[in-house]
Amino acid sequence: MNIFEELESEVRSYCRTFPTVFNKGKGSYIFDREENPYLDFFSGAGALNYGHNPASMKARLLEYIDQNGIAHSLDMYTEAKSDFLKKFNDVILKPRNMSYKIQFPGPTGTNAVESALKLARKVTGREKILFFTQAFHGMTLGSLSVSGNSFKREGAGLPLTNTTCMPYDGYFGDEVDTIEYMDRMLESSGSGIDLPAAVIVETIQAEGGINSASKEWLEKLQGLCKKYKMLFIVDDIQAGCGRTGTFFSFDNMDLSPDMICLSKSISGYGLPMALCLIKPPLDIWEPGEHNGTFRGNNMAFVTATEALNYWKNSKFSEEIFRKEKIIKERLENLKDSFPDEISEIRGRGFLYGIALKTEGNGSLVSAACFENNLLVETSGANSDVVKLLPPLTISDDDLIKGLDILEECMSVIQDQVMV
Ligand SMILES: *Cc1c(COP(=O)(O)O)cnc(C)c1O
Repeated sequence: MNIFEELESEVRSYCRTFPTVFNKGKGSYIFDREENPYLDFFSGAGALNYGHNPASMKARLLEYIDQNGIAHSLDMYTEAKSDFLKKFNDVILKPRNMSYKIQFPGPTGTNAVESALKLARKVTGREKILFFTQAFHGMTLGSLSVSGNSFKREGAGLPLTNTTCMPYDGYFGDEVDTIEYMDRMLESSGSGIDLPAAVIVETIQAEGGINSASKEWLEKLQGLCKKYKMLFIVDDIQAGCGRTGTFFSFDNMDLSPDMICLSKSISGYGLPMALCLIKPPLDIWEPGEHNGTFRGNNMAFVTATEALNYWKNSKFSEEIFRKEKIIKERLENLKDSFPDEISEIRGRGFLYGIALKTEGNGSLVSAACFENNLLVETSGANSDVVKLLPPLTISDDDLIKGLDILEECMSVIQDQVMV
């Protein structure tokens, strides 16, 4: 028995999908203790969008530590935080004409979600939050109460209350406009639905099966929020920070969320950090009303500031969209080659899913890929979607290499079907 099985809680999970002991990472590759290289199409569930140990961030971080830069500061003012705020404003907010106050909640995604839900209730004086089928927003109680997955919800061990689930875009197929359904439910005094404080939505449900909401649907959802005076919260924790090709996943849409949650790749280096962006009039927090010891992870501020260099102009975006074409074309071809196994190719940018017809087949493909030194995870409540999250910085050669391995590994489930 290894030390992990002996001492680490049974709750551990990704290590079961990728059963080796990892030791180093560089760029698109992660290496195990035996120096075996694995091409990483998982990217820390989207926390490593710029690959492992990106050189410029590493250099800034080493320099910062070397000069005894502050590591921890609660929410005291620090130079590192000042640099981050200024650059985030200059590179991200101002060019988009966005005006937001920035809250640093605790350093994980679920912290950002909890603070958004709390603030929405405080601002509106309403209790209910609307969320969507297949949604994932984190594992603490508030976030679980707006997540769809029943296995994860049951983990709460108590009733998850004061939320209402609504059908996501396409949940009932193409024919049903779920916005119309929601509109009717909210309008009717007989629907049993109290007017909610807010709606929380992912533009692409990365954990829930790579379901994308259309631009039109999201814009209509924002309209509903205005109509019923609900706050519009976008959880861009996984789809944001460049994953879809633009910094925010909704940059090409006519959306102006009341609050935006960011985490995962905001630090750029895999260091814990989260943000909740708040429209200024909604920032009615009392000082210290939402607290947390690790809100001042200055090392993360240092790498986050450096990561923003990718977004100073449109070059990085253009490169992502150019490489997306390689992914999309290969996956569409794959679908043609495996018509009995693949039901659909989903996603956009650098966030794609291969939806499989048979439950559990995603796990078989993922295991075969691991055997062939490629890390890919599954998504969806039944692990029936193979999820591709290559680093945004990947070279064409490595991207093609990974897609080649994936294609070979698809035959595993084909063999399975024939047996
Ligand atoms: C990962 C994720 C979260 C939760 O982030 P944690 O850091 O795991 O708490 C919330 N929302 C979305 C969309 C995520 O992908």
